[in-house]
Amino acid sequence: MARFQKRKLSKKEEKAASKEQPVFVPKGSDTETLTQEKEKRDLIIPEVITVKDFSDRADLPVTEVISVLIKNGVLATINETIDFDTASIIGDDLGLNIILEKEEAKEAIKKEEVTGNKKDMVTRAPVVTIMGHVDHGKTSLLDKIRETNVAGGESGGITQHISAYQVVLDQTKHKELKGRKITFIDTPGHAAFSAMRQHGTAITDIVVLIVAANDGVMPQTAEVIEHAKENHVPVIVAINKIDLPDADIMKVKQQLSEYELIPEDWGGKTVIVPVSAKTGEGISDLLEMVLLQADMMELKANPKEEAIGVVIESRFMKGLGPIAMVLIDNGTLKMGDFVAIGSAYGRIRIMEDFSGKRIGEAGPSVPVRIAGLRSLPSFGDRLVAFASEKEAKESSLKSDNRVKSTLHIATAKRLENNSNEAKIIEFNIIAKSDVVGSLQALKKLLSEIIHPELSIKIVSEGVGPISESDVTLAEATKSIIYGFRVPVLMAAKKIAEKEGIIIKNYDVIYKLIDDVKAEASKLLPPEIIEDELGKLNVLAIFRDDRKGFVAGGRLETGELKIGNEVKVLQDNNDKYHDKIISLRQGKNEVKECSSGVECGIGLNSGAKVAVGDTIIAYKTTQKERTIE
Ligand code: GDP
Repeated sequence: MARFQKRKLSKKEEKAASKEQPVFVPKGSDTETLTQEKEKRDLIIPEVITVKDFSDRADLPVTEVISVLIKNGVLATINETIDFDTASIIGDDLGLNIILEKEEAKEAIKKEEVTGNKKDMVTRAPVVTIMGHVDHGKTSLLDKIRETNVAGGESGGITQHISAYQVVLDQTKHKELKGRKITFIDTPGHAAFSAMRQHGTAITDIVVLIVAANDGVMPQTAEVIEHAKENHVPVIVAINKIDLPDADIMKVKQQLSEYELIPEDWGGKTVIVPVSAKTGEGISDLLEMVLLQADMMELKANPKEEAIGVVIESRFMKGLGPIAMVLIDNGTLKMGDFVAIGSAYGRIRIMEDFSGKRIGEAGPSVPVRIAGLRSLPSFGDRLVAFASEKEAKESSLKSDNRVKSTLHIATAKRLENNSNEAKIIEFNIIAKSDVVGSLQALKKLLSEIIHPELSIKIVSEGVGPISESDVTLAEATKSIIYGFRVPVLMAAKKIAEKEGIIIKNYDVIYKLIDDVKAEASKLLPPEIIEDELGKLNVLAIFRDDRKGFVAGGRLETGELKIGNEVKVLQDNNDKYHDKIISLRQGKNEVKECSSGVECGIGLNSGAKVAVGDTIIAYKTTQKERTIE
């Protein structure tokens, strides 16, 4: 296999490359004059690109690009991919300003915003993600909110995990908030933030940061604060478990202040709501605060336009094909609409709300489950509705989300092709990486590991250190954690050691891929190799009083021994399998016979053998299989 190894980037390069918008010097600026560089050409590329595409777009010979790659310590052949970081580095040498391609959907949103008819704009429900340290009560809070605020028993039928739901605020002192809706999405924090970085999608408007009152600010709490700050998403803090005797709200507030989240009652701007996911105390206050925050943000959308949305969950369902849970950002999605989602496209055949109820349309901020897609989209992929199938298809083909979706499509295809009886072994991975670009490159390489019996499943992915939540997830999903140039947090290391979770960390991408193959190979059942030991054509059947039926004939090839496994063939077809229990040469009982001699074979079920059958003695060995 051809491989590539990316050289380590300097801190500065990493910082520049990981930014959503590329850093480039505008033509004619002072900086450009100062640097006195030869004028550079702009080159727009996606986050991951093959060497060939890069050369084509740059209008440069492939050989030149490859030689600059080699000069920078990157070994890549014409059809291999390089990530945005690598492209940026070689761009310097090639006299190119490498610019990250803007998502079409992002453009579309902007267009919608500009062209959207102002009078049709309506206030939409805020989209909220609850994030926090493991065990601080995220799941309990999501469950409690749903239990107490979903209208008219709609939630009754839901037993499975749901990735999004909408609640209606019913019990409130504030009349103006009564009946207002909030959309909650349940997604790992990292995934939400990295999708935002990659796609510029508003996958969440507000983060509710949950902090257990008896535990305080923990590493993942700090991580969420940092991510929210970077992404300019407002944070409302829910101090949970206030029902516990050791709850210490003051201490938590103090700790939050150290992270620049100063409580309102201390003169700061951060809304902090004490709650108990167990008793339900404070939950209506929290919902009210969310709505007040949303009002300040003036979240609006135009339901009269074609729908734009984002995938928050996708899976393959037998009989229905690819299913996606999509959160609508703008416009209204209707039954029968043609849609492009990343590299997938299709026509909406079934639409359900989060509770599984069939619906005919879904407006802004509504999470909707759809069927009718031709392939499986990925988390974070953009949905755009079109007037015709042709446009939807064209858009999906142009999408640079294709790389992202390959893995899922490949998996789905294999599941489809292998009908009922064939069982696909899943090898679960949690992938963590230093920057978005390398994560994309890693996923692309993983998607190229194709095996008919095995599918590599990325259970979770993200940018940043390997944390306790990764280990917890690995334990729950029986995954191996693969890190690429990321640190492992001390707490994560400890739990992993205790629970026997495997964490593998690499600096070189191809070594990581080789390790994935080696680990995945261990799951494949071994290959059974059959070696022929001897072959005899049955010319006669004798009845022996002591030994039952004996099959006689000339041993054509090989040797036979008592105890050998044999198969009896009739017209070259397997008739049955047996074992040699006795051997005779002439009148003598022997332990073995060699080729060329006439011998009689006693079998357990000798009565089943007939003249004309062939008896083949064989031995089997098991060979471990490896994925190439
Ligand atoms: P997550 O890991 O953040 O999703 O946390 P969970 O929702 O799974 O909660 C972790 C543990 O804390 C569980 O045993 C919950 O029952 C418990 N828990 C969650 N919220 C509360 C609360 O408000 N009060 C009390 N006493 N326990 C809670």
